[in-house]
Amino acid sequence: MITGSTNIVALIGHPVEHSFSPPMHNAAFQKLDMDWAYVAFDVNPNNLKSAVEGAKALNIKGFNVTIPHKIDVMEFLDEIDEVADLIGAVNTIDFKSMKGYNTDGIGAVKAIEEVTPIKNRNVVVAGAGGASRAISFYIAKYGAESLTILNRNVEKAQNLAGDVMDSGLIGEVKSDSISKIGDYVDEADILVDTTPIGMHPHVNDAAIVEAGQMHEDLVVFDAVYNPNETVLIKEALKAGAKPVYGIKMLLYQGAESFEIWTGKKAPVDEMERALRQTLDL
Ligand code: NAP
Repeated sequence: MITGSTNIVALIGHPVEHSFSPPMHNAAFQKLDMDWAYVAFDVNPNNLKSAVEGAKALNIKGFNVTIPHKIDVMEFLDEIDEVADLIGAVNTIDFKSMKGYNTDGIGAVKAIEEVTPIKNRNVVVAGAGGASRAISFYIAKYGAESLTILNRNVEKAQNLAGDVMDSGLIGEVKSDSISKIGDYVDEADILVDTTPIGMHPHVNDAAIVEAGQMHEDLVVFDAVYNPNETVLIKEALKAGAKPVYGIKMLLYQGAESFEIWTGKKAPVDEMERALRQTLDL
């Protein structure tokens, strides 16, 4: 129930109406019996500054930030978390400190670490867009031995690899064309797919790697969460490799944001239940 003292957190983006975050966070607040509510605001890019200032004035506790505001919102904050600053984008704002964080990458590494530690592993990341950037810096921060970024546009992969190398978080970062992925997967411990290949409605796309090119010890994470079992995850299962589902990234980025805003441990089981219900899984 909304009361006179309900604390508000919100998603800002443009558009926002298809977000899965409101049911996930509201289920968490309910589970912990907290007088908090999560809503979504569609903010036109022209109104971004006044949205942040207005939220501050209204004593809103936190924001999640989605496309197209993740980069532009940074100029209205007092502080940026170190890794979010390297990534160059934030998806979470804590209004207590006016500090921005990027929990997307944390969500991915936590999802992967349910299955295998990242430390000392050789990781291949396919794609060099926004999700890849967030995930690549966190893979470096979590102590991977080597990181290889593969992309269709090789220059983008080279630029991202250069940025991650310059961070000093990791000793070895390579880049190459995604067409050579088969060669790299042979030597990899963890494969991360951040391309939209296989995303609804393109569920029958060809996977970036087929089962025959995977080995049994490979951990395969697909950032796509709709459908749950993507073409790549199907190939991983066929190969006897270990799958990590995109929904887990969504879950753990939300859990991390929840903990930043509230200081409480996120009820991840309840959040996952709400997420699966919303996604009809
Ligand atoms: P983005 O910035 O547009 O980047 C897309 C990347 O995929 C680019 O590197 C692009 O390569 C590559 N790509 C696109 N189509 C391709 C194709 N047909 N073949 C090979 N490469 C292709 O997008 P993003 O924001 O990073 O998001 C990427 C995916 O991650 C989306 O499916 C999104 O749903 C998912 N995601 C999931 C979560 C989660 O919580 N699970 C969170 C964020 C994003 P070029 O540079 O060569 O064009």
